[in-house]
Amino acid sequence: MAKTRSMIDNGKLDRVVADARRAAERRELDYRERALKMYPWVCGRCAREFTRANLSELTVHHRNHDHDFNPPDGSNWELLCVYCHDNEHSRYIDNISTDPARAEDARATATTNPFADLKALLKARSGG
Ligand SMILES: [Zn+2]
Ligand SMILES: [Zn+2]
Repeated sequence: MAKTRSMIDNGKLDRVVADARRAAERRELDYRERALKMYPWVCGRCAREFTRANLSELTVHHRNHDHDFNPPDGSNWELLCVYCHDNEHSRYIDNISTDPARAEDARATATTNPFADLKALLKARSGG
């Protein structure tokens, strides 16, 4: 009995997961179709033009990188070719991962060194 019930529950879980996946796929198709209707089939970065023949290489980019944010006016969408889309995302990741460190480095060199020099200089003068 217990075995049968757990099998039924697993089936239910599978269905729920499958439903969620289908819903996500539908949503993706939906915003892609809407974006393609709304905007000319041109890459927003390299201005490459697309036709039905190569339309699969034209992708919908989310400006704020949130795929669940799909306002009906299309303001979060940008049509990009697959290459520019890749670039856009790697740049976004680059910015997140390296910029704070770089900024910190820049601050460290900009502030500590001159002040250290100045301190040493003042010390040398007053002491001497
Ligand atoms: Zn492009
Ligand atoms: Zn994107």
